[in-house]
Amino acid sequence: MALTYQKPNDEIAQDFLNIIKKSEHIKRQEPLAGHTTFRIGGPADFFLTPEKEEEVTAIVAYCKQQQLPYFFLGNGSNLLVSDDGWRGVIISLKHFRKISAEEEIMTAGAGALLSALASKAADHALAGLEFAAGIPGTIGGAVMMNAGAYGGEICQVLKSARVLCEDGTIRTYSNEELSFGYRYSSLKESHGIVLSAEFALKKGNQEEIRAKMADYNTRRREKQPLEYPSAGSTFKRPEGYFAGKLIEDAGLKGYRVGGMEVSEKHSGFVINKNHGTAEEARKLISDVQTVVLEKFGVRLEPEIRFLGFTEDNNRK
Ligand SMILES: Cc1cc2nc3c(=O)[nH]c(=O)nc-3n(C[C@H](O)[C@H](O)[C@H](O)COP(=O)(O)OP(=O)(O)OC[C@H]3O[C@@H](n4cnc5c(N)ncnc54)[C@H](O)[C@@H]3O)c2cc1C
Repeated sequence: MALTYQKPNDEIAQDFLNIIKKSEHIKRQEPLAGHTTFRIGGPADFFLTPEKEEEVTAIVAYCKQQQLPYFFLGNGSNLLVSDDGWRGVIISLKHFRKISAEEEIMTAGAGALLSALASKAADHALAGLEFAAGIPGTIGGAVMMNAGAYGGEICQVLKSARVLCEDGTIRTYSNEELSFGYRYSSLKESHGIVLSAEFALKKGNQEEIRAKMADYNTRRREKQPLEYPSAGSTFKRPEGYFAGKLIEDAGLKGYRVGGMEVSEKHSGFVINKNHGTAEEARKLISDVQTVVLEKFGVRLEPEIRFLGFTEDNNRK
């Protein structure tokens, strides 16, 4: 699907080069399948990996001025990208991955992996992030989604986040200002972009911290289909139910559409079993929603985000 921009693509690429300076940080027609844990997704017209905050703000300002759709990608672990890809600009903050610790406060760039932060916290004998060790997202995606597992959630340890706001300013938001809820932060509505975040942890016993992380990871390997590409839990937990149990009780365990499958190991996961496509994933998700609604009257709401579809649940 072609989209006509205000300028030819070559000129846009040149403008990005004037901002970022390094041509290796500007890619065109970059297949997004290689940037999502589903291993699905067509090409993005532009794929940018800036290194400095000034570059990020200048890219966003340029996109707005040129009316170019843009999207911030983390580790792509909660994302289904259309087979047609994304007509616009993908911005990855993968170079913003510095992690530091000072006493009980840790600071991490938006592109750092949660697992790297949890592991560094353990190195410093800081407790509080054990739950995050096995979540394959970045700090940016995890703060935005208030990622959580095993009774822990980002909002329990986040002190503040530096955010690029819609108006182009950079502001530091306190935990309270981000109005966290279940898989929710106010960034979902304000469209703020996390640049870095501070976490308030507690001195703990290093062996206990490491043991807890190892235990959570063993439980994940036992219960979750980590051997196949997926985007984690497909649906949010409906009030009073478990999505996986409802799907299993509806007889949909192992249900397939093309190469996509409701995992036999954990019905809450949709897996890419055999070169599945985004269209197949969408059909499977929609079928599951229909059957569960018919059988149990419960509407399953996707936890994963959709990108590049006409009615996606994403920003920009
Ligand atoms: C095997 C597996 C297990 C998982 N287990 C869990 C789990 O236990 N708990 C859990 O909560 N999740 C889990 N997930 C889902 C996923 O890892 C989390 O939702 C994670 O927080 C997504 O982060 P990401 O960087 O991959 O974001 P992406 O998938 O890249 O993006 C998700 C959303 O975040 C936005 N975003 C990305 N970066 C930024 C930024 N810097 N500022 C603002 N918004 C941004 C994107 O625009 C998009 O809307 C799992 C996924 C997999 C594949």
